[in-house]
Amino acid sequence: MSRQTVLNIENLERTYGQGKHALTVLKGANLTISAGEMVALVAPSGTGKSTLLHSAGLLERPDSGDVYINGVATRGLEDSRRTEMRRIKIGFVYQFHHLLPEFSAEENLMIPQLVRGTDRDTARSRARELLEYMKIGKRATHRPSELSGGEQQRVAIARAVANGPNLLLADEPTGNLDPETSDHVFHALESLVRTAGLSALIATHNHALAEKMDRIVTLEGGQVREL
Ligand code: ADP
Ligand code: MG
Repeated sequence: MSRQTVLNIENLERTYGQGKHALTVLKGANLTISAGEMVALVAPSGTGKSTLLHSAGLLERPDSGDVYINGVATRGLEDSRRTEMRRIKIGFVYQFHHLLPEFSAEENLMIPQLVRGTDRDTARSRARELLEYMKIGKRATHRPSELSGGEQQRVAIARAVANGPNLLLADEPTGNLDPETSDHVFHALESLVRTAGLSALIATHNHALAEKMDRIVTLEGGQVREL
């Protein structure tokens, strides 16, 4: 019995620019991730990791091929449907935290839940629970500027899972941190993903961290290859 497929990237093509300036970044990329599977994406800069993650996260629309989320083809969906799916099914972590500067850590975790229609009390208790889990409960009322880089990323990771997605996409989530902080944040991320039974695709340059994932893939000539 095969496990449920959470993410299926099929024959993905993505070209930036036109004419002689055209740059084809993805040339028939394929990747399948099952429920609960953690996959590392390790490839040099400029090979298309962010393009692949943004396409998988429905932040960019590919030129051809498709991205299936829980079996649903997404390329042809209206923007509003894509946004809704992204909000419910997918959590995204960027290299830079992208937290809202005017709001506390706790509020940053509440906002996506409120947008989704969760009531305030439930959103707040979920936010507190996640911040505790990420070992930053004591920082709940602080704004991003009052947090260290590692703490900011912990908040960003917690925010990505606030709506209980089943797929977490992370684009070099610890790429901006010193090695020791990077290890701690990565372990927190891993334990959160494992505990919640999430599927994850994580771009990283850290081979030691990548080794802890279930699979490692790379990008070569616009295609995904298993390592
Ligand atoms: P990586 O994340 O592996 O560093 P990217 O997916 O960011 O790679 O980029 C792959 C290639 O596509 C790079 O050569 C980059 O310059 C180019 N690229 C990315 N985004 C755009 C864009 N919006 N317009 C034009 N070129 C882009
Ligand atoms: Mg990138």
